[in-house]
Amino acid sequence: MSEQITPELVAKIANTVAVLQQAEADHDQGKVVFANSLGAEDVVITDLISKHADKIGMFVLDTGRLPEETLQLLTEVQKTYSNVAVDVYYPEAADVESFVKENGVNGFYESQALRKGCCAVRKIKPLKRALSDREAWITGLRREQSVTRDEIGFKEFDEGNQIEKYNPLADWTEKEVWAYIKANDVPYNELHDKHYPSIGCAPCTRAISAGEDVRAGRWWWENPETRECGLHPGTPAAEATPVNVMDFLPK
Ligand code: SF4
Repeated sequence: MSEQITPELVAKIANTVAVLQQAEADHDQGKVVFANSLGAEDVVITDLISKHADKIGMFVLDTGRLPEETLQLLTEVQKTYSNVAVDVYYPEAADVESFVKENGVNGFYESQALRKGCCAVRKIKPLKRALSDREAWITGLRREQSVTRDEIGFKEFDEGNQIEKYNPLADWTEKEVWAYIKANDVPYNELHDKHYPSIGCAPCTRAISAGEDVRAGRWWWENPETRECGLHPGTPAAEATPVNVMDFLPK
């Protein structure tokens, strides 16, 4: 992949900075937050927030099943970008214990309902906690990532969470993401160099082969149109099979 900062990318970087600074200006400190997945897109946003909009805080969801490489990157990000707050949210121990007791430690492989249930306990409920009392959140979603994301805007209203949602990289290509990372020496997950373009929990992520869709390694045993974890409720896949977190919590 050639890595060049083209004039088109310069314009996109300027637009992304403008979106971030607008988000920063529109909301009091602490009311707008970046959901940092530590993926390639999100390290770009981390770098831009640190350089241009450092009143915006960020959080990482540690599901308890993340790859070691992702945890190493988290440590590096916290050291490199010490001017921004990086909070870490964990699932409730009682929720995980109850889910595992009922469904097994790897029960998520058995059905889509159980997979979404595991995501509900380990991701969605902590996300709700991270977004409570916020007015807006920022994500690294891009339109070309998957069939479930091709209509997202730079700013939209997130009906599921009832707050504003900014997607400042909506129009970036994968090539542009990597051009920015390389040109700015941004720390990134070493799994990306081992054919993992999209990285989630270790048991639900695999390397992809040449020619496969970039999200083909996420929940690869499921239909592509249902492969969302529910963190982004407006996407068609998430709407098709909505998850009620309460169904999976201790009774
Ligand atoms: S990605 Fe897999 S391990 Fe992680 S929360 Fe979802 S089902 Fe569970």
